[in-house]
Amino acid sequence: MDDCLFCGIVSGNIPATVVARGQGMIAFRDVNPKAETHVLVVPERHLDSLSEIGEFGAEESKKMLDFIAETAHTLGLKDYRVITNVGHGGGQTVFHLHWHILAGNLPVFG
Ligand code: 5GP
Ligand code: ZN
Repeated sequence: MDDCLFCGIVSGNIPATVVARGQGMIAFRDVNPKAETHVLVVPERHLDSLSEIGEFGAEESKKMLDFIAETAHTLGLKDYRVITNVGHGGGQTVFHLHWHILAGNLPVFG
């Protein structure tokens, strides 16, 4: 999608530190990390946010979750947090679906 930052990273037009790629997904380091480890996991196909997950079939959704877990494993993480922000009120600033993998000195909540 034109004017989408993460589509630009997917296409290689915008540089990023890629840590894993495959299964229609890409994982790269967040440019402004909020934890010791902060990686973003992004489907190559553009969805605005999780609210559009209905566009993905069951298989594609499962692949996405598998890829998140595999990326955390590749990073050597055992304990980590996965979040996705939805909408401005949810803290979303980039409107291409992405998952944050965060690890190291995380605040405990819940
Ligand atoms: P959101 O707030 O939408 O859930 O998360 C967007 C994330 O993208 C933020 O954590 C922000 O630091 C990160 N980000 C913004 N611009 C760039 C960029 O150009 N490159 C990378 N690697 N991350 C970015
Ligand atoms: Zn996009």
